[in-house]
Amino acid sequence: MNEFSLIDRYFKSLPIKRPDVLLGIGDDAACLQTPKGMNLIVSTDTLVSGVHFLPEWDAYDIAYKAVMANVSDMAAMAAEPCWLTLALTLPELNEQWLESFRRGLSEALNQFNIDLVGGDTTKGALTITMTIMGFAPSNQIVRRDGAKSGDVILVSGALGAAALAVSFLNKQGIVPSDRALLMDALLHPKPRVDLVHLLRLYATAAIDISDGLSADLDHICTASGLGACINRNAIPLHSLLPVYLGDKAVDLALTGGDDYELCFTVPALKLDSFMSEMKQAGMVCYPIGHMEPQPGLRIRMEDNRCDAITPGGYVHF
Ligand code: ADP
Ligand code: MG
Repeated sequence: MNEFSLIDRYFKSLPIKRPDVLLGIGDDAACLQTPKGMNLIVSTDTLVSGVHFLPEWDAYDIAYKAVMANVSDMAAMAAEPCWLTLALTLPELNEQWLESFRRGLSEALNQFNIDLVGGDTTKGALTITMTIMGFAPSNQIVRRDGAKSGDVILVSGALGAAALAVSFLNKQGIVPSDRALLMDALLHPKPRVDLVHLLRLYATAAIDISDGLSADLDHICTASGLGACINRNAIPLHSLLPVYLGDKAVDLALTGGDDYELCFTVPALKLDSFMSEMKQAGMVCYPIGHMEPQPGLRIRMEDNRCDAITPGGYVHF
């Protein structure tokens, strides 16, 4: 098998389901039809072996997680994902690995009605780069820089499971069912595309929590020219965090990445209406604090004292 038969066998064979893909894999470029009144939202994520995943992981999980990380960026922009390109660098041609990769890719794409429309295949150290494209109504883009002082800060779900899984990777003595639950959170994140519609109506700013709550909230603060105060008690923790970390659970929730929940801001006056629409839709979000004029991140402790915190999370350089 050469590069071209590889592409045909594993990628061109994935069905095109969307009518807006006029030309998919096989030509020099794809041809895609964008709907009127919508903006095209584009984002790229690279996963490097040994940094974002371990080479011994099942290729199914690597592909699945890569798609989900990309989809999460669409959710954070309140965009609906639709197309994906895949730049794949492989150290060798391993058919079993590719078959498993293809299954993970296909399953993840199908969940969100996304079509694979192109890519590139090269030889080298295992690296997966995906570019995802989606749509958002032109007047409803949710950015990082739109938060206002007084806005309520919310988080879309419990934090810390993925980071706890990473901390357990080389550890013995973890209850096997707990390890399995946490590994599932790490390998199969659930990007919050279900929130896109309500974000468009209510959110002034949003970001997905890929690097850690404090680091990602700090991006909203910097972009919006504001600061934030969050309540330590209000941060939603995965139920296994207190079990294994006790008092340190909140610290991991603040700095641990890979949860792919959303952190976003809603004007205080609209909070009740937002929360009741969330409830009607069968979803839960957690208000954790407020945006403030004073720059920097602060955390309100149980005794009401407010401490400055340094945003921490994963940084590459
Ligand atoms: P070119 O020489 O023009 O770069 P390629 O041989 O790299 O073309 O790719 C041929 C076709 O296959 C293109 O349509 C490209 O988008 C697609 N393609 C290549 N690699 C992948 C991949 N890993 N996943 C999806 N499509 C791919
Ligand atoms: Mg090429």
